[in-house]
Amino acid sequence: MGYGDLYLKPSGAGVAEPAGEVPAAVMAASGEAAERAAELTGLGAAVAGCTRCRLCEGRNKVVFGAGNPDADLMFIGEGPGAEEDRQGLPFVGAAGELLTRIIQAIEMTRDEVYIANVVKCRPPGNRDPQPDEVAACRGYLEQQIKLVQPRAIVALGRVAAQTLLGTDSPIGRMRGQWFRVQGTPTMVTYHPAALLRNPALKRPTWEDMQQVRDLLRAG
Ligand code: URA
Ligand code: SF4
Repeated sequence: MGYGDLYLKPSGAGVAEPAGEVPAAVMAASGEAAERAAELTGLGAAVAGCTRCRLCEGRNKVVFGAGNPDADLMFIGEGPGAEEDRQGLPFVGAAGELLTRIIQAIEMTRDEVYIANVVKCRPPGNRDPQPDEVAACRGYLEQQIKLVQPRAIVALGRVAAQTLLGTDSPIGRMRGQWFRVQGTPTMVTYHPAALLRNPALKRPTWEDMQQVRDLLRAG
């Protein structure tokens, strides 16, 4: 089965939940999730005006993150590109379209997952974020992970992987392996923009994503 075959799977029809009493433990759990979601919203509002690093100077909009605040799966990219900076949303350009298909390939939707970046403001000319910019922004990402409490994280590309793992290993050596970030199983794989430049990377990326799908299913 080719990776490309999995791109256009139709999403399944929604299954209606049976009505009835909601157990107290479930109510308590959802109240706790609602609290975390509210905190995440508050953090996003605070970051919208952030001037902690020089990237604030060239940005149009801060790209805090998007998706399900109680997601099982969190994707972490590098930083906003031009389209993300325009819209204030992560992964909405060409790489984002490919990320959407990668998510669909493991039979999930963008709405189900949470998507964020290492830096929340666009580096000029799409250069790599510099170490002091990553350091300035890092606390926000740590808070996002803490509040979403995903069961798994996918680090997309070298910058995300090196930032999260605190190493300078090359991406080819890190991908396909599980690490732990803030206690959460974290898979490193290629960035979708790299897949657009080099389609040969789709195969290993698909293999990495199957490991992610398997871990989530095993839960
Ligand atoms: N590339 C990234 O790393 N993040 C985005 O949000 C878009 C493109
Ligand atoms: Fe603040 Fe992060 Fe934007 Fe820098 S990149 S200004 S630290 S939000």
